[in-house]
Amino acid sequence: MLIQNESRVKEYLPITGLADFNKLSAKLIFGADSPAIQENRVATVQCLSGTGSLRVGGEFLARHYHERTIYIPQPTWGNHPKVFTLAGLTARSYRYYDPATRGLDFQGLLEDISSAPSGAIVLLHACAHNPTGVDPTLEQWEQIRQLMRSKALLPFFDSAYQGFASGSLDKDAQSVRMFVADGGELLMAQSYAKNMGLYGERVGALSIVCGSADIAVKVESQLKLVIRPMYSNPPLHGASIVATILKDSAMFDEWTLELKAMADRIISMREQLFNALKIRGPSVSKLWMFNLLVHFLLIPLCQSVDHLSYHAETPGDWSHIIKQIGMFTFTGLNSDQVAFMRQEYHIYMTSDGRISMAGLSSRTVPHLADAIHAAVTK
Ligand code: PMP
Repeated sequence: MLIQNESRVKEYLPITGLADFNKLSAKLIFGADSPAIQENRVATVQCLSGTGSLRVGGEFLARHYHERTIYIPQPTWGNHPKVFTLAGLTARSYRYYDPATRGLDFQGLLEDISSAPSGAIVLLHACAHNPTGVDPTLEQWEQIRQLMRSKALLPFFDSAYQGFASGSLDKDAQSVRMFVADGGELLMAQSYAKNMGLYGERVGALSIVCGSADIAVKVESQLKLVIRPMYSNPPLHGASIVATILKDSAMFDEWTLELKAMADRIISMREQLFNALKIRGPSVSKLWMFNLLVHFLLIPLCQSVDHLSYHAETPGDWSHIIKQIGMFTFTGLNSDQVAFMRQEYHIYMTSDGRISMAGLSSRTVPHLADAIHAAVTK
């Protein structure tokens, strides 16, 4: 895709960034027919990618919001606690992931959110939770929304993977749109690093959905006072690339096709890894000897042991690999197993067992499956 370089002019942008980019970003996440946009209740400022959007939002809240505590999921992206603490907020965590099921600890989440003080801020990953790949279902999102609104908790959404989780930009924004639809306030940090591959351009947006158009004007003015002493104004080039794509319907369609192809490839990697683990077992020659041993020696000797069985698949339930969403899989491997795989197989991952599915290919899946098998059976 060729993008005419509209930004040959190297003038400063305004403090709030490129106006077109801001409008189009709000439309992308909230939907073209969003009531909040139609009623001019959204203040959007261009920021330095997702991180910068979170930081500006955090600083704004620390200065102007009455409750300084932000609840973040346990676990979460490692930078979240640092960003918010340095912004002047107090970070506390809420239960999110259940290692036993490798899924959502929904009960724990509800309990922790219900015991937050009224008005507290709650950070929510819009989709493709990093690092776990575990997202609430739409029904669970609805319960979270009702609980949060009933306690006047303020949602702060982090959307770093829109379009990358399901392949549909609208579907990946459903959680956010449920909260906007009820007319309440929220903060929204958007990143174009992954979904447009603009990592190094540092292009993102912070939107604050307010109670009225009048408040949105005041909020935007206060956001300028946060941004001006921090970096004066944001960079031009990346934002002009995003705006060019979002406003041109042919380019937009091409981009969504490419996004879908990337999301589908990640889903296919999940299936390939899951299937590879199901068939992993001792090598053929060893298996042949093992079969002989079991059939002719162990079974006659252990007639009374009715649970005697042997599997050619990797022990454990690996269905979380296909259930989890987005770029990351929380494998459930422990730090010893991760170290073993690094030493014996030269496979490198974070010590919490998180792997990026985007880094896998059909060629490398068998090697990873061999390594996981060896790590869990050693
Ligand atoms: N939020 C989450 C959940 C992320 O995973 C990331 C990037 N890994 C970000 C925000 C910020 O990314 P960036 O600043 O590059 O847009």
